[in-house]
Amino acid sequence: MFSKRKKMESLNEENFGGYDAYFINELLDEHECPVCKMALREPIQTQCGHRLCLSCAEEMRKRKEGVLICPLDNSIMDSSKIFIDIAVKRVIMQLKVKCSNFSNGCEWTGELKILNEHLGSCEYQTLKCPNNPCSTSLLLKNLKEHMEKHCIYRLVTCQYCEQKIIFREKQIHEENCECLPLCCVNQCGMKIMRKEMSSHITDSCANTIIPCQYLNIGCKFKVRK
Ligand SMILES: [Zn+2]
Ligand SMILES: [Zn+2]
Ligand SMILES: [Zn+2]
Ligand SMILES: [Zn+2]
Ligand SMILES: [Zn+2]
Ligand SMILES: [Zn+2]
Repeated sequence: MFSKRKKMESLNEENFGGYDAYFINELLDEHECPVCKMALREPIQTQCGHRLCLSCAEEMRKRKEGVLICPLDNSIMDSSKIFIDIAVKRVIMQLKVKCSNFSNGCEWTGELKILNEHLGSCEYQTLKCPNNPCSTSLLLKNLKEHMEKHCIYRLVTCQYCEQKIIFREKQIHEENCECLPLCCVNQCGMKIMRKEMSSHITDSCANTIIPCQYLNIGCKFKVRK
């Protein structure tokens, strides 16, 4: 029961101390850790009959140079005789809790042991929009719609060049897009992409004025192509 994984968990900030959950029924004193005042997590039972979280006991032992002293009666405990109270752990894991996001509207309730599993997919958890630099806070249930329809930093396709551009810059991009069709500046009536306008004017516009093909034999007229 003192597996490596459990030890790792107890050192992890988030798993330090007891369970800070919203219990539906008031927590019994015997299920509350006297150190962190939360529901016992990995409860160890001591020879004096008291219980505390494994991580709280480890923390207390560190502070007292390796000696574990019961916070309730100051008796010194023999570390080799400390064990996890599986029965109490089981009872605590079966206590009914509300979802930690109930203030956001989640109506889920269930046993403490499946709370984490629920929280992993709870639609009422608050997340930041991952589109940089948006970072608007939203409930998971609203995130998809925000990202697809409302986020000003979502990617959209330019209708002219078909590049992906940030929605916020769409208008400016499209007004300046090199593929934007413009009326020929020589008013030949054709619509030409901005990037092809100059080659259109020099190579193919019917309204471009060029010297008469007989210039070399003296004709000074200029004519349309
Ligand atoms: Zn504790
Ligand atoms: Zn004690
Ligand atoms: Zn929930
Ligand atoms: Zn966003
Ligand atoms: Zn474009
Ligand atoms: Zn033209």
